[in-house]
Amino acid sequence: MKIEKNKSLKNNNTFGIDVRAREYVEIYDEEDLKQLLSLSELKDEPKLVLGGGSNILFTQDYNGIVIKNSIPGIKIIFENEKHCLVKTGAGVIWNDLVLFAVEKNLGGIENLIAIPGTVGAAPVQNIGAYGEELQNTFHSLKGIFLDSGKEIVFEKEECKFGYRESIFKNELKEKFIITYVILELYKNPQPVFNYGPIKNELDKLNKEIFSIKDISDIIAKIRNEKLPDPTAIGNAGSFFQNPEIDKEQFLELKKEHPEIPCFTTPHDKVKIPAGWLIEKCGWKGKRIQNVGVHEEQALVLVNYGNATGANILSLAQEIKISVIKTFGIELTEEVNIY
Ligand code: FAD
Ligand code: NAP
Repeated sequence: MKIEKNKSLKNNNTFGIDVRAREYVEIYDEEDLKQLLSLSELKDEPKLVLGGGSNILFTQDYNGIVIKNSIPGIKIIFENEKHCLVKTGAGVIWNDLVLFAVEKNLGGIENLIAIPGTVGAAPVQNIGAYGEELQNTFHSLKGIFLDSGKEIVFEKEECKFGYRESIFKNELKEKFIITYVILELYKNPQPVFNYGPIKNELDKLNKEIFSIKDISDIIAKIRNEKLPDPTAIGNAGSFFQNPEIDKEQFLELKKEHPEIPCFTTPHDKVKIPAGWLIEKCGWKGKRIQNVGVHEEQALVLVNYGNATGANILSLAQEIKISVIKTFGIELTEEVNIY
């Protein structure tokens, strides 16, 4: 285990922000991690767990130790005629797990193809896309408290999953490291394809029955065409969450903006696409020096090169102000800001 000092994090975050960590260590198993956490000189040092850095905006150097989680391994640990439990190291690339499942025709996460980042970060914001979210296949996870080194298992109901939310993004932020995640995948997949453009694309295949590979291929293609590739243009996906507002507020807004798109939620609120709100305020495709709002998806803020975290944050603030002035809706950042 090698602790590096004054390490640049430019290649560790998909925004490509050039900040430094006072200390940096990459861990490959729980034993390394426990040994690290027992070092007395690190006891009171702030600790930041990093996966692929695809949901992070660094606004300053990190004055503590960054723990890059690289715990490997994908293993089927139980199966019966209906289900399969798959245990995966938190450092595994999420998309590799999706490809593993699709290849074995294990259903449940095919709609989550091509989401960047690691398996360990997936429960943090209960990743979701195209009508699916992690919690639908989540079984349990294992992790370690960063202060005490104590190991613990979290069952699904203890994770407080919500819309791009969990206990790990809130109460346990910077206090806990996820080491393994167990998903329960289906041997008889029930594909979800009623979301937006997927069905249209599937119809073009002229098939009666769609495999989960058909669906994952289509979603990967759509994502490729629409989203900026972080290796070419720095970004962290959706910068803001889609707001969920009360029905009364929605009806008022609809009087003024009859074309406003909306989706119902399980808890009687109305979800408005944040990208639409931002676009309506005139931000889509706008560039201010080295930062901007993506041309295809207004929810994605981009670094055209050498921007600082402060540059991105200042653009985000301006966007928030105009959305609140126009619609009376306060956007909340989905990206984790440090
Ligand atoms: P990081 O950015 O490294 O970390 C994110 C947060 O999780 C940080 O607070 C970090 O401290 C914490 N964390 C990371 N690993 C652990 C761990 N092992 N234990 C405890 N805490 C940890 N998200 C979606 O939900 N749906 C999408 O469709 C989607 N599309 C995206 C598309 C693009 C182009 C990009 C750039 C991002 C997209 N995202 C999407 C956001 C992002 O990919 C996910 O949130 C992903 O899960 C982040 O993984 P990561 O390993 O990069 O996490
Ligand atoms: P889109 O299809 O243009 O739709 C815009 C928004 O409307 C989405 O955010 C989505 O909410 C909502 N929506 C569309 N159809 C819906 C339906 N049938 N039911 C419920 N909600 C619906 O979105 P996009 O930007 O191309 O993204 C496609 C998917 O990839 C979305 O699920 C999005 O969340 C995901 N994605 C996420 C990130 C990220 O960083 N979090 C980045 C890129 C893409 P939901 O977001 O709740 O699905």
